[in-house]
Amino acid sequence: MRLTVIGCSGSFPGPDSPASCYLLEADGFRLLLDLGNGAVGALQRHTGLGDIDAVCLSHLHADHCLDLCPFWVSRMFGPSGPLRRIPVYGPEGTARRMAQAYGLEEHPGMAQAFDFVTLTPGSREIGPFGVTVAHMNHPVETFGFRVGQGGRSMAYSADTGECPALVDPARGADLLLCEASFLSAPGLVPDLHLTAGQAVAHAAAAGVGALLLTHLVPWNDRARILEEATEVPFGPPVSLAAQGLVADLD
Ligand SMILES: [Zn+2]
Repeated sequence: MRLTVIGCSGSFPGPDSPASCYLLEADGFRLLLDLGNGAVGALQRHTGLGDIDAVCLSHLHADHCLDLCPFWVSRMFGPSGPLRRIPVYGPEGTARRMAQAYGLEEHPGMAQAFDFVTLTPGSREIGPFGVTVAHMNHPVETFGFRVGQGGRSMAYSADTGECPALVDPARGADLLLCEASFLSAPGLVPDLHLTAGQAVAHAAAAGVGALLLTHLVPWNDRARILEEATEVPFGPPVSLAAQGLVADLD
């Protein structure tokens, strides 16, 4: 399984990265986790837009889903006509929200291009991947993911405040891709996002093999994020996501 970071900027695109989007590839199958604003541009450096087989949206905040709009255009109106319909997994209401975002009537909305599937907690197969989803701790319905293939696995926090439910799907994963939106400070808003130190604490509780911090907000200093992470005891490697970073889990 190969993970490519398409976008890791938190809350809005930064100068060096789109908002959240991660490409997972195995056995020729390409799965996107999130499709935040700006991601469709950078995605084309790594794969053709027609080569994506499925999309999972963790939640319907703009920085995680809005580029489904340009992605829809690319799959509907290309020179060779509409491309094959692919599944888009997301929270309740995803089809309606994305139709609204593009100014489409709710029916058919984007249904000619996408087979919208409502996520619920539990496990399912998506192509060659075993995917387990669980609710995270965020102001709107938000899912975290564990994706396994060929005996290897990665987990993705999506957006979350402190959340014991993140630990379970991440338990023993080879890699945890975890948000670290906040720098530590007094009076942080609860149940919204994590600091790097909190991300490390979740990674340690889950016993993951490596931690990749993501959803890095452009106004935060990257060196300080890493410094805060290293203040919490944790043996495995910790690093910061960057656009174009590739991790091979095999
Ligand atoms: Zn969010």
